[in-house]
Amino acid sequence: MDYQAILNEIAAEVEPLLEKGKVADYIPALASVEKKQFAMSITLFNGMQYSVGVADTLFSIQSISKVFSFTLALKFYSKDLYKRVGREPSGNPFNSLVQLEYERGKPRNPFINAGAIVVADALINHYGNKETAFEEVQKFIQEVSCNNSIASNPVVAASEMEHGHRNLALANLMKSFGNLDNEVQDVVETYFKLCALEMSTKTLSRSMLYLANHGIDPLCAKQFISPNQAKRINAVMLTCGHYDASGDFAFHVGLPGKSGVGGGIVALIPKVMGIAVFSPGLNAQGNSLVGTKALELFTTKTGLSIF
Ligand code: GLU
Repeated sequence: MDYQAILNEIAAEVEPLLEKGKVADYIPALASVEKKQFAMSITLFNGMQYSVGVADTLFSIQSISKVFSFTLALKFYSKDLYKRVGREPSGNPFNSLVQLEYERGKPRNPFINAGAIVVADALINHYGNKETAFEEVQKFIQEVSCNNSIASNPVVAASEMEHGHRNLALANLMKSFGNLDNEVQDVVETYFKLCALEMSTKTLSRSMLYLANHGIDPLCAKQFISPNQAKRINAVMLTCGHYDASGDFAFHVGLPGKSGVGGGIVALIPKVMGIAVFSPGLNAQGNSLVGTKALELFTTKTGLSIF
């Protein structure tokens, strides 16, 4: 298959849509990102990489970081993790407080904010302190993407903290229900530092290979997690990876994926490739508008989806 030609075609087809959507504006550092950008990369199991657009541009991975922190928490806690966080779609916006109150402080899944905050808390417990927890997740991301320069943007992280009232509210609510062991401030700070990690579509598409190959990196043969755990993570990505638009993403794209409000989306085709797209204009549910369309075009043109 001529992947480069397909990516070029997609870039041309989404071009008129680049003005649509709305850049995340809840913090100045994200609100100032130029909207009319597009990049898409794929990494195959043999290491071949194909890209189009601004594929080396670094952007805030935001909620895509939840895939990596969930991976490590599941590795260390196995199914005990589900005592603290569920694995059902929420059907609610990513930062909703209402459901968390009804469900007595247990978040629906690790990909909504409350769930990722619990995961960060579990990782701080495992590693002993917030600094090591952050560094180890960062190290893991560097390892799975084969790029040791991946770093968090301190301006974005600090700005998130300054405007983080809702996430702090979620964390306080969970603390009141006894579902947070560490100090609210420490846990939310760790969560925001992970959201503020910056990557390109090239490195993100590379980082998905372990999930596309039963937990084993097909290029260096390293086993990061068990096949069973990889299966679970893929299932949660498919059912919960796009907040209250997860069903819509599965319907249109047909792949496990995870979005972030920075405009990135990662996805994977089991046994074939890792994929990443970037375009900062978001749709009403907070997912990249052009990114979602590009992925839909990709699975339609290649005939590759999990269905
Ligand atoms: N840092 C963002 C927040 O917690 C992440 C949200 C996202 O990417 O969906 O509000």
